[in-house]
Amino acid sequence: MTRNIVFNVLDIRRGTTVDGPGLRTSIYLAGCTHACPGCHNPDSWDFKGGVTMTLDEIMEVIDDEDFNVTLTGGDPLMHPHTLPALIHAIKERGKSVWLYTGYTIEQIEADPLLAEAVTEVDTIVDGPFITTLRDPDLLFRGSSNQRIIDMHERHHLHI
Ligand code: SF4
Repeated sequence: MTRNIVFNVLDIRRGTTVDGPGLRTSIYLAGCTHACPGCHNPDSWDFKGGVTMTLDEIMEVIDDEDFNVTLTGGDPLMHPHTLPALIHAIKERGKSVWLYTGYTIEQIEADPLLAEAVTEVDTIVDGPFITTLRDPDLLFRGSSNQRIIDMHERHHLHI
């Protein structure tokens, strides 16, 4: 039944190197309400954007490649009821999951629904994009307020 869950997908990039370590399959899920000034992609805010794909269809693409997976958008955590099933399916394949979100880790941990949604995530890149803190030299993130958080060790990775 969970296999019939539908997501609005803006894009899927295979073998990208900019959304986490190594070659990854990046899934861009539509929808975001953070409205960060200077957002790299305001078109991603529309929850009805992109194309609809079932969980199985997304997994077919992921299974096509021997890559770990990054979930981004938009903000994947705008879908806390459906996202865990996708994360679980990816983890069942033994792949690591990086998650980009405009929420801070403190906001996630303070919200039971969001906290539950990230229980199987390996790494979170957190926080809104802040134009004044933009730094093109940062690896895997846009502004210096954003942190790369190892969810197993609960510490910030300084990479
Ligand atoms: S969280 Fe990301 S997608 Fe959402 S407004 Fe901010 S930069 Fe844009």
